[in-house]
Amino acid sequence: MGLSPSGVKGTGSIGELASGSQSQTGYDGALSHRDHGEAMSSRAWIGRWKTAIVAELQRTLSVCRTTGLGLLFPPRCAWCDRELDHPAGPLLCDRCQEALGPRQWPTCRRCGAEAAAGPPLPEGCPLCLHTPFQFETVVTLGGYRGELRRAVLAMKRPLNEPLAAALGQLLVNRRGNELSAWKLDSVVPIPMYWRRRLVRKTNGPDRLAAELGRGLGLPVLSRVLRRCRNTLPQKNLLPRERFRNVRGAFRLAGRGGLTGRRVALVDDVMTTGATANEAARLLKQAGAATVVVVVLARAEGEDRR
Ligand SMILES: [Zn+2]
Ligand SMILES: [Zn+2]
Repeated sequence: MGLSPSGVKGTGSIGELASGSQSQTGYDGALSHRDHGEAMSSRAWIGRWKTAIVAELQRTLSVCRTTGLGLLFPPRCAWCDRELDHPAGPLLCDRCQEALGPRQWPTCRRCGAEAAAGPPLPEGCPLCLHTPFQFETVVTLGGYRGELRRAVLAMKRPLNEPLAAALGQLLVNRRGNELSAWKLDSVVPIPMYWRRRLVRKTNGPDRLAAELGRGLGLPVLSRVLRRCRNTLPQKNLLPRERFRNVRGAFRLAGRGGLTGRRVALVDDVMTTGATANEAARLLKQAGAATVVVVVLARAEGEDRR
């Protein structure tokens, strides 16, 4: 298990690589009322439909950006809501791109933690030195703090799917070359437990994976992993307990199919790496050759959740 990518340079440009995405999202999104076992009032159903209609409207408007209708509905920055100068350009204004996605973000090659001053340690940093990971490396937009942390938290709200798309696009724009150097051939989102997805009414990792697939021209394999049980919130657990908490939380949806694959495993935030490690363990079990964890933000110290 090497720590070095192949050394091949890629562009990572969204515009150039928009064609190869093959999203399979929503694999178990059609759960019935009876399935989630909760009496749901008609008011809650109306609320859900309203949310879905507004989200669809926002998606339609984002399509309008590239057409003449963009004149009627000028595109706005997905984070600060400022009017954008270029209708067909990035979904974030220049200021927000700079604030949310540092161009350079030196990290530990093993765990994605912000690198300390001095030469990088090949065996890892103090945070991960004694942790055996199943993945090769972690690629992140930045640290889980400040404005990026606020944006990631906002992205989890149901009406903020366009923000999730914008952050995914920024991740590809900023780290596309680094990702291409790993010669990845597929994108797999960390699955969310169905009950949590119903409560949140949105799925950040799925949305990010879709953007990554679109930006890098890779298929999104949403059906490879299933979350088979809900887990205790990781934020309440000690690091060692977090690894135990997620053990057995996923299962492979099918046998094989990943032999020799080079997978980008996508989540919104990584803290200890316990969740990503468990998912990577199963991907490797299914034959994956390489697993690169891709997250918007890496939490450390007081920012851990
Ligand atoms: Zn902005
Ligand atoms: Zn490290």
